[in-house]
Amino acid sequence: MTDYKELAQLLFPDIDKSTDYYENLYPTRNLKEGARVTRFAPSPTGFLHLGNLFACSVAYKTAKTTDGVFYVRVEDTDQKRKVEGAVEVMLQGLKTYGITADEGVMPDGSQKGDYGPYIQSQRKEIYQTYAKWLVKQGLAYPCFCSADDLEALRQQQENDDIKGYYGKYAKCRDLSYEQVKANIDAGMSWTLRLRSPGDVSKKCYFDDMIKGKIEMPENVIDVVLLKTDGIPTYHFAHVIDDHLMRTTHVIRGDEWIASVALHIQLFKVLGFKPVKYAHVAPLMKEENGNKRKLSKRKDPELAVTYYEQEGFPAESVNEYMLTIMNSNFEDWRRTNKDADINSFPFNLKKMSVSGALFDLVKLTDVSKNVICTMTAQEVFDKSYEWAKEYNKQLAALYEKDKAYATSVLNIDRGNKKPRKDIAKWSDIMDYISYMYDETFEKNYELTGNATPQLAADVLELYKDIVDVNDDKDTWFAKIKELCPQVGCTPNVKEYKQNPDAYRGHVGDVSTVIRVALTGRTNTPDLFAITALLGADRVRERIENAIAYYKEENNGSNQ
Ligand code: GLU
Repeated sequence: MTDYKELAQLLFPDIDKSTDYYENLYPTRNLKEGARVTRFAPSPTGFLHLGNLFACSVAYKTAKTTDGVFYVRVEDTDQKRKVEGAVEVMLQGLKTYGITADEGVMPDGSQKGDYGPYIQSQRKEIYQTYAKWLVKQGLAYPCFCSADDLEALRQQQENDDIKGYYGKYAKCRDLSYEQVKANIDAGMSWTLRLRSPGDVSKKCYFDDMIKGKIEMPENVIDVVLLKTDGIPTYHFAHVIDDHLMRTTHVIRGDEWIASVALHIQLFKVLGFKPVKYAHVAPLMKEENGNKRKLSKRKDPELAVTYYEQEGFPAESVNEYMLTIMNSNFEDWRRTNKDADINSFPFNLKKMSVSGALFDLVKLTDVSKNVICTMTAQEVFDKSYEWAKEYNKQLAALYEKDKAYATSVLNIDRGNKKPRKDIAKWSDIMDYISYMYDETFEKNYELTGNATPQLAADVLELYKDIVDVNDDKDTWFAKIKELCPQVGCTPNVKEYKQNPDAYRGHVGDVSTVIRVALTGRTNTPDLFAITALLGADRVRERIENAIAYYKEENNGSNQ
């Protein structure tokens, strides 16, 4: 009979703390009933994609709506895959979307909170303390099998239902103390394996907060807890950390769901109360009538940088994410138009089991709604920040006269039914281009009843009466007065009743003026545009248009 105590001492001679030490160091959190402690646990291996952001928002909202705690833990046990600076980039990205942790690793790399360190590579001693305890209980053992031994095992089990290091295949399970000592003295490296108490014929049941009730076979595999370098595997580290950091809800991608039986077993052998799990399904996309996972390779919109580059405000992305996170969000938004998004009663149970459908067109609509309620100053500030990075031409135009730019963005803002022209900052250049000489494009095409002949007649008269200092009523009264002078009626109804009697109506006259001043037939409020363009530009544009139409009427614009 192996003396497990002695074995534990042999394997971990330098570990002198007890598990009680850590249990006391990290006491149960003093939170109100129902408060949830959640975390985001990135591995520093890649970039922030929408899937991470989505799952992370779910964890964040779960904590925030229950007055709980949300923290960030860096899972860097796989040093080989570590990408320098990846965590900082990820955390900065989260900050952009309004997610800041209460504790853990901060965007500047510092750590905050009483449950740290929050970087796994700094917690080796903690993991080993629990590993030593497991060995003492006979619940873990060193394994000296080489990569070749394990490969041979894989081949042997090729046709088996259960694959892995377990039961009769677990060669090192019952090594005596003397054998272990001899191997160690011979300098053989070892991993630490769980002595799994699982039973193949038994099931593990758990209630996933998103997926519902799940049953799966108990874990029987003697999984690796510590690798040869003494660093834990994800499985072991997750259980120790989430226990000691007093996490209540582990919210993570559903690629981990198959490991839950193992994780619950680990909680049990360690004598911990298991956490609750919520597994978030990946974001889906509809393509040719089929749903598939958003893919890094095929879908640029999976990268969070895509939204930055396009200039979708973080507010829009957040608003849209909630619409696909909780099916009742849109109804809530309709009745709580001006409410802070964080006051939405987010509910894990209302999440999609199979994966939320992500749709750029819908995001665009949501974003228009979000932007149309911003003030001009907000639109200016945010789009200016964006333009400095992604559209130098827009930034330069803004810089010529910031007050002018803000006034341009203010046109029609605050109306009862605000216009929804802008879905992202990259739409702005086109939206305001005619307000600047540098980007104004002449285009004299007309619509409705407006003909080049009518246009020339209207503009000849308008040029002498337009006054950019008029108030809106005077401005419009002048346009109406102009109508009969060119054979149009100021009254659209009248025109409809008797179309043959007129060349057009006030709408056609306005179109002529609009096209001359903006090169477009559809713009926001023409009065505001006229006033902002100023007398000189208005005169010049009208004269250019007159010249064009006159030539057209002479047949020389072909
Ligand atoms: N580090 C793990 C990952 O990036 C985290 C899983 C978890 O949240 O527990 O997949």
